[in-house]
Amino acid sequence: MENTNDTIIELIDVSRQFDENTIAVDHVNLRIKKGEFVTFLGPSGCGKTTTLRMIAGFDLPTGGQILLNGKDISLLPPNKRPINTVFQRYALFPHLNVFENVAFGLKLKRIPKEGKSVKLSKEEISKKVRHALEIVDLEGFEKRDVTTLSGGQQQRIAIARAIVNEPEILLLDEPLGALDLKMRKEMQIELKEMHRKLGITFIYVTHDQEEALTMSDTIVVMADGTIQQIGTPVEIYNEPNNVFVADFIGESNIFSGAMVGKLKVKFCGKEFACLDDFETGQLVDIVVRPEDVKMVSPEEGQLKGKIISVVFKGVHYEITALCGKNEIVIQSTQSKTVGEEIGMILTPDDIHIMEKAFLTNKYDGYITKKNTVCFGDGEFECDVTQLYPGSHLDEEGYLITKEGKKIDLTDVDVKVEVGLHDISMSDNIDAGGATGHIISIIYKGDHYAYIVRTDETEEDFVFDCEDLWNENDHVSILIPADKIKLTLARPEEEKE
Ligand code: ADP
Ligand code: MG
Repeated sequence: MENTNDTIIELIDVSRQFDENTIAVDHVNLRIKKGEFVTFLGPSGCGKTTTLRMIAGFDLPTGGQILLNGKDISLLPPNKRPINTVFQRYALFPHLNVFENVAFGLKLKRIPKEGKSVKLSKEEISKKVRHALEIVDLEGFEKRDVTTLSGGQQQRIAIARAIVNEPEILLLDEPLGALDLKMRKEMQIELKEMHRKLGITFIYVTHDQEEALTMSDTIVVMADGTIQQIGTPVEIYNEPNNVFVADFIGESNIFSGAMVGKLKVKFCGKEFACLDDFETGQLVDIVVRPEDVKMVSPEEGQLKGKIISVVFKGVHYEITALCGKNEIVIQSTQSKTVGEEIGMILTPDDIHIMEKAFLTNKYDGYITKKNTVCFGDGEFECDVTQLYPGSHLDEEGYLITKEGKKIDLTDVDVKVEVGLHDISMSDNIDAGGATGHIISIIYKGDHYAYIVRTDETEEDFVFDCEDLWNENDHVSILIPADKIKLTLARPEEEKE
């Protein structure tokens, strides 16, 4: 075991379930070091705020434990924790001036003194407020009316109000979300500076990857209530654990491929030497960062392509080349012209390989009518004869086995498997067997990887498709009957 002395907060198997279908935080394990600047990063709805609220004590876990300095604080009320929170929608008191806003909590505070619990003196309060205002760079603003301050200044007052309590941990939930871009950039630098001056632990929440990469010592990437990766900004950027992280952090080219030999991978129709060792035959995802693609003459390239777009981005050009059916994005200080033929080179350390996390969709289901099956929050036509090799259906639709036995399959439990290439979607909601919303789209060079989550029981359909849809589109799921693979869930209990 790692030395835990420098751990300030530890989450052990922490979950928060709101109702049957909403698991906001799902068995999260995490250790945060004293003095660290940690960022929870992930798309909206992934469970960042819920995790933060549990650390603060505003919400309680439905499972697991939260330790502060090694002690279980799971049941401790918020005001008993040495933790303060800054929210995006900071609520300053408009009728109080800056001093009174910052001093508000201190006036209520009682501190132990000679065996008694006493209020802070006026001088003590003044000193603490002055110090907090210095940290947020607003010294001399004590008398100002808060309604006359800019958004950035108001947010700094909100931070001063939190740090005046001298917490061991400061929680910040998208604190810059309401500010414009320029103010946000300035505040990012100032927050880093405040972190340095205070020397306490900051736990920061954002959905903005750039913000996370700029500010953090450690980034915790979350999706769907679970931790996808924990690492330094450089680790997360250079060695993403999976395609979700690669896609979410920075720009990437993501390809589907397979290992074709020892340290040899094939994608975009070509073989490449690589550094990641996987078994031959393993299906993999390949991530290549745009700045790692080197452009050469068409003859010299491992891959050939034709330029289809060039966009100037200030420091570099973002160039897209079409290579067969794959689009490859390249960042370069060199410009190109649309229509130009180029060669591309990828050296082994430019190629990041990840085992494909998801190879097929699996569900528990049951046979409903004679040739239909319920699974994945829907009902689909299928071919039940595959359950009994050599069987067929009679005129009434009953299954007749090879031996001539008639079987009623209604309500029989089955295991269902559907491949990634066997699902499609339609915007005609009544066309398919199940309906849901597109919750994830990842571009993979020549196709998109989609996840559709169903409306009722939140089952996921994962599949590839060449067409571009939009996140959140409401769609129905189509699967050809012969692509639904069925096996009996309990072959021993054959029903007659
Ligand atoms: P994030 O901060 O990453 O955007 P949240 O932690 O706010 O995500 O929410 C995670 C999930 O939990 C979402 O699906 C959200 O709708 C759900 N959720 C959050 N709070 C509640 C609540 N009080 N009751 C029911 N569901 C909630
Ligand atoms: Mg949130």
